This record gives sequence, structure tokens and C-alpha cells, in this order.
Amino acid sequence: MNRNKAVRDIVSIGKRLYEKGMVASNDGNLSVKINKNEIAITPTGICKGDMAASDILIVDMKSRKVISGKKKITSEAPMHFSIYEERNDAIAVVHAHPVVATALAVAGVQLDSCILPEIVLTIGIIPLADYATPSTSEVPESIKNYIKKHDVVLLANHGAISIGKDLWDAYFKMERLEHYAQIFLVSKLLGSQRILTSDEVCKLQMLSPEKPIECKSCSVDSKVENSEADEKLTQVFRSLLNKKQ
Ligand SMILES: [Zn+2]
Repeated sequence: MNRNKAVRDIVSIGKRLYEKGMVASNDGNLSVKINKNEIAITPTGICKGDMAASDILIVDMKSRKVISGKKKITSEAPMHFSIYEERNDAIAVVHAHPVVATALAVAGVQLDSCILPEIVLTIGIIPLADYATPSTSEVPESIKNYIKKHDVVLLANHGAISIGKDLWDAYFKMERLEHYAQIFLVSKLLGSQRILTSDEVCKLQMLSPEKPIECKSCSVDSKVENSEADEKLTQVFRSLLNKKQ
């Protein structure tokens, strides 16, 4: 990844995050892996809607020192470093506080049912990591087990992170998460959610022939929301996701 492009993308995506209300004030942080030694990352104490290229820092992955830029690095940098260490395929990370997704994370809800086809095919289930004090080493620790297999994770009482093959990919996952969270909430308020059956989930998975499908049959009454059904579908989906990797 070209250094200038990484910086340009951070400035553009920061603006989008702010304009879409996915961060308030100086919240949130973004990073892009330039190569195995360097990442571009946002500084602390800056509104993501109002950044210039000169605000973005270049940091050495090994020493964790700023090698270009004058500002102080975001306090959530350890979370970004740990994601790049854990996932070789991670090229960009977005951390934001989208309102409805964060409200679900406050309410202790994880998005682990198969409800919307687009989500099943793109993000999959979205786990909820335990609460961790922001800016401390508790945060990387709390997400460690989830980021191995998930590109999007809710952070209890805090917000969400998304991982992408570039910054646009990570951003669109965050946008998709918030859109899904809104639909999830409204359908909950309407009083019922029809969970996709395992057959329906299998058919969806078969739409992507490059991802081999092996659906374990399970009998689910898709008309009623029931935790046993949720659990079974979650198991099926988890096994599909594991096979994918
Ligand atoms: Zn945050």
C-alpha cells in the first residue's frame, strides 16, 4: 500500500465516519497497514471529520514509535497493533461508535442470528467482546479471541471495530453493521424476528461457490424466534465460517 494513498484514505473515511454520525467529537480511530513495518494511523484528540493529510502519523510497527508526523498517537493504538499482529490479512482497521450498534453493545446484545442475507454473506455473525477500559491493554486482550475469525466485533459499553482488506472495505463493514443494527432494533421493537432457516442459510452460502458449503441439517421452526433455534443456527454458521478459513 502506497503511503500517500493510506493517508488520503484515512482523511476521506474519517470525514465519512463523522458526517454519518458514527463518531462524535474526537472519538474513533483509523489505521492502514502500509507494509509489514509501517502503519498510518490517526492522532489523538482530533475530530475525524476535519483531518488533513499532515495530521496522519506513520508509525513503526516494531518500535511502536512515530516516524513521521508531529501529533500524539491515538491512545487506542495498541488495539490496532494487536489486530495487525493477529491477522496477516488485515490491511485496515476502523474503530467507531455508531449509535445503534453501540446501543446494542451497551444492552449486551450480540448479532449472532442469521436474519439478513447480505449480512450472512458478508460479515457473518458479530460477536460482543467483554467490556474493557478504553485506551488500556484490556482492549486488545478483550478482542483477541474474536478477531481471529471475525472482521466485525462489538465492544461492550463502547463501540465497534471492523477489519478490512483496505480502509474502504473496513469502513463499509462498519456502515453495514450500523445499518443492520438499525434493522435489528426496529424488528425487535415490532415484536418478532423471523430467523432464516438452516436451509435458507445453506442456499445463501451456495451462492458463493468458492466458499465450500457443508450445512449440518437442523430442524428449525423459522416462524418463531427461539433461543434454541438461534443457538443451532449459530452453530451451523460458525461451522461454515470455520471451514471458510
Ligand atoms: Zn472508542
